Amino acid sequence: MLAFIPERMNYLDALVQREGRGPWWSKGCMGTGCLQLEAEYRCEDCFGGRLLCRSCILDRHRDEPLHLVQRWLDHHFQPCTLQSIDPGLRFQLGHAPGEDCDFRDPRKFVVLDNNTIHEVQVDFCGCLGAPPIRDQLVNIGWFPATVKEPETVATLSLLRRFHTLNLQGRVPAYDFYNALERAGRIEVPVLSGKYVPYEAPGNSVIRGVLGWFVIPNWNLLFGEICQLSVSGPAACSGTLKGSAKGQALFGGGVGGGRLR
Ligand SMILES: [Zn+2]
Ligand SMILES: [Zn+2]
Ligand SMILES: [Zn+2]
Repeated sequence: MLAFIPERMNYLDALVQREGRGPWWSKGCMGTGCLQLEAEYRCEDCFGGRLLCRSCILDRHRDEPLHLVQRWLDHHFQPCTLQSIDPGLRFQLGHAPGEDCDFRDPRKFVVLDNNTIHEVQVDFCGCLGAPPIRDQLVNIGWFPATVKEPETVATLSLLRRFHTLNLQGRVPAYDFYNALERAGRIEVPVLSGKYVPYEAPGNSVIRGVLGWFVIPNWNLLFGEICQLSVSGPAACSGTLKGSAKGQALFGGGVGGGRLR
């Protein structure tokens, strides 16, 4: 810790420079082959945070719709969303990167990810034989918060992170959700009662975690418990193992008192 003290002004200079346009203050867009002189955007999640023009920042994020970007305005960077950059970002599912679907089904989705809560314009594939919306979402790692007509999803990466924090740090879904709302420093979409049926923030996370967890473990958790009623005491050891495992995962974790 003491080693930082003599170097503190150098660190401060570097941090302040990073708050502004950094070493690229006089340069135009740094997109490959772009000659645009006005570079007013940078991404907090892309490596390097290079300055890009409006067209290049959208092009670069066609397959990264959940990144947080900033716009240089009034001599400082302000957080903004990819959706707010004209003409707005659309995210195509079910096709190779850069390819548009001729029969697209456009929908607006609220996506909970590690950095914040996003509103994303999603184009589902409507081609003949295309998988259902649920499968198109799960294929890219987005878990729907509701079974019917989903309009809110949580990324699997977020669900794993919450699961770990809940088990290791006893972080309740309510607090986790509140932190997520503030993490991006942008105005996050308001989740209406339709998608949060119990009218408590964080329920999307809880339902996502429960759905994500229960589905692959259904047989493990409940299959063995059912076995007791049909097999009698002979199956007892297996049954106890199964229910103990369920209790450890639900009672002590996701479904336990830690979630509010
Ligand atoms: Zn990015
Ligand atoms: Zn450019
Ligand atoms: Zn298609």
